[in-house]
Amino acid sequence: MIKKVLIANRGEIALRVIRTCKALGLKTVAVYSDEDYNSLHVKQATEAYHIGKAAPRESYLNQEKILDAILKSGADAIHPGYGFLSENSDFAQLCEDNKINFIGPSAASMDLCGDKMRCKAAMLKAKVPTVPGSPDLVKDVEEALDVANEIGYPVLLKSVYGGGGRGIRLVTSDKELREAYETVTGESIAAFGKSAILVEKFLEKIRHIEYQMARDKHGNAVHIFERECSIQRRNQKLIEQTPSPAVDQKTRDRVGELVVKAAEAVDYTNLGTAEFLRADNGDFYFIEINARLQVEHPITELVSGLDLVKLQLDIANGEPLPFKQKDLHMNGYAIECRINAEDTFLDFAPSTGPVPDVTIPSGPGVRCDTYLYPGCTVSPFYDSLMAKLVTWGQTFEESRVRMLNALNDFYIQGVETSIPLYKTILKAEEYKKGNLSTDFLKRYGIIDRLTEDIKSDQKQKQDAAIAGAIMHSEFFRSKVKSSHAPSHRWKSHMDRR
Ligand code: ADP
Ligand code: ADP
Ligand code: MG
Repeated sequence: MIKKVLIANRGEIALRVIRTCKALGLKTVAVYSDEDYNSLHVKQATEAYHIGKAAPRESYLNQEKILDAILKSGADAIHPGYGFLSENSDFAQLCEDNKINFIGPSAASMDLCGDKMRCKAAMLKAKVPTVPGSPDLVKDVEEALDVANEIGYPVLLKSVYGGGGRGIRLVTSDKELREAYETVTGESIAAFGKSAILVEKFLEKIRHIEYQMARDKHGNAVHIFERECSIQRRNQKLIEQTPSPAVDQKTRDRVGELVVKAAEAVDYTNLGTAEFLRADNGDFYFIEINARLQVEHPITELVSGLDLVKLQLDIANGEPLPFKQKDLHMNGYAIECRINAEDTFLDFAPSTGPVPDVTIPSGPGVRCDTYLYPGCTVSPFYDSLMAKLVTWGQTFEESRVRMLNALNDFYIQGVETSIPLYKTILKAEEYKKGNLSTDFLKRYGIIDRLTEDIKSDQKQKQDAAIAGAIMHSEFFRSKVKSSHAPSHRWKSHMDRR
């Protein structure tokens, strides 16, 4: 049984995992780089180990340093969070070799999931539909050109090791493909140390719909509903919601059965996510499995009532799933906004630095997972995700309005944030109606609308400031007048004299 968990991560996700461990009475071990000396996860864990310099390679990606901290602290389990080492099968293997309980799938299963091509092949075998594309890796540009011409442009070049939107390029002609082949190879080597490319049909007007899956070590598997993550920029998610407006109960059950098959096909254990693209005609195509806890897991927690980190720990302990598919029911509607430190108008460039002041929103149906506190710093070395703002409502509209109000209440001083963009999206009629697609921002000219919203916001603030100044000066004048005027009592006193 797990007694002490080392969290090989930082930021909001480290805090999220610590919270559940505390609730279960488990000891926690934090690790931190030079940059994170003052971070909340260091303060909230039972103990903390310094693991190196700010650059991820020297700390959070440094397998030896982390293993060293595990051995020194006597932790018997490791939670990898997301990003960093979470999907590194060599690291999962290193933990297995050292008899440390890695909270996630086996190294072998992770290895299979981490290779988009091998994973697609496993799905085809299990009769889970995948996006049409090259039957195997393409060995060079010439072969990529052949495949592209066979399936027809537009196509995507994808690094099989890609993740977080990196290593993907859209191409519409032979000329573009030749250039992109080099870029994707370079990007993949820079981010993942290796490259292998597949060609896939580029699907238009699609939705990104993914399923939470859970499978225990005894082979019992369920899906915990879908999440729609179609609001994206640069193939990265910004806003997620569940249920998806495009999924009715019949579809949920039908695709859910595919998800269970997918988990079995790669002998998956613990929690994972099966990602699909939904074409405009309603067809679903499997794209990949994320072999870890997903950033957007809180929306599933809010509609399922489950603590997914607890479920991960239970499965890692070898316990059977405590429920069957028929026991799981969705309750209400949840939305998540990823509050990033970035400048929407500088093509989403990161915005970093000290945050002298913060106001975290709260209220009924509002949850905020964040590492922010007044006086903290947003580091240039790590991911731009500062907070996940999540709302729940009995209806979609209730959850949407709660989100808008919470976004209004969220104050982060010192860095640019994606909050203004989210307000514009949440107010858009197309969003309210559930007309979502992965090109939502472009399709509906959202950035132009944001510019308008900011202008009218500034105008309103100016008008309010002017009105406020007038009121203030009137108030002040009346004060001055009354203090100079003889008081009633004094007057009556004078009269008496
Ligand atoms: P999710 O599917 O959970 O939304 P994302 O694909 O957005 O996940 O990535 C989750 C987090 O992990 C993000 O912060 C992203 O920047 C980071 N990430 C994803 N893949 C990698 C990778 N291969 N290397 C480094 N960071 C990654
Ligand atoms: P990553 O590993 O970076 O998460 P994915 O394969 O999951 O890469 O794709 C990320 C996003 O890229 C999807 O959510 C979708 O918006 C877009 N995408 C991926 N494959 C396709 C495709 N075949 N056609 C159109 N868009 C795609
Ligand atoms: Mg993905």
